[in-house]
Amino acid sequence: MGAAEGGLDSSAKVLDGRRMEITGDGAFALLGIRCLSCGARSHPARRHCPSCGGPAEVTQLSTAGEVIVATVAHTARAELLIQPPYQVVLVRLSDGPVLKLPSLASRPLRAGDAITVEPLVLAGAAGPVVAMQACPVGSFRE
Ligand SMILES: [Zn+2]
Repeated sequence: MGAAEGGLDSSAKVLDGRRMEITGDGAFALLGIRCLSCGARSHPARRHCPSCGGPAEVTQLSTAGEVIVATVAHTARAELLIQPPYQVVLVRLSDGPVLKLPSLASRPLRAGDAITVEPLVLAGAAGPVVAMQACPVGSFRE
């Protein structure tokens, strides 16, 4: 599970190019914007800042974050390509943006758990696709 050693399969297609990209050497980059007016960072990438409407530049966000809340999804959704049950977590990145992500972690995630955003390669109808998931960091607090 998790990212493949030595980079991702270059034939895998990114599910949403506003959210991430796979660089030429197979590295995963989490994309967002930095507002040129107010400095806010947000995700996914877009032309204008969702806070103030100012112009924005695309930037790479830190993949480090913390769980705000977690739940378990039991309903299958074809577009997710993930078989339930799986966890769905709301995470706040260290850069500020809040993302909703699936997680295939084997243990329950809890508020306050440190996570990293990592690529999740799934079998799409037209070949492998790359989505994102939240992966726990270090040991859990019991
Ligand atoms: Zn702004």
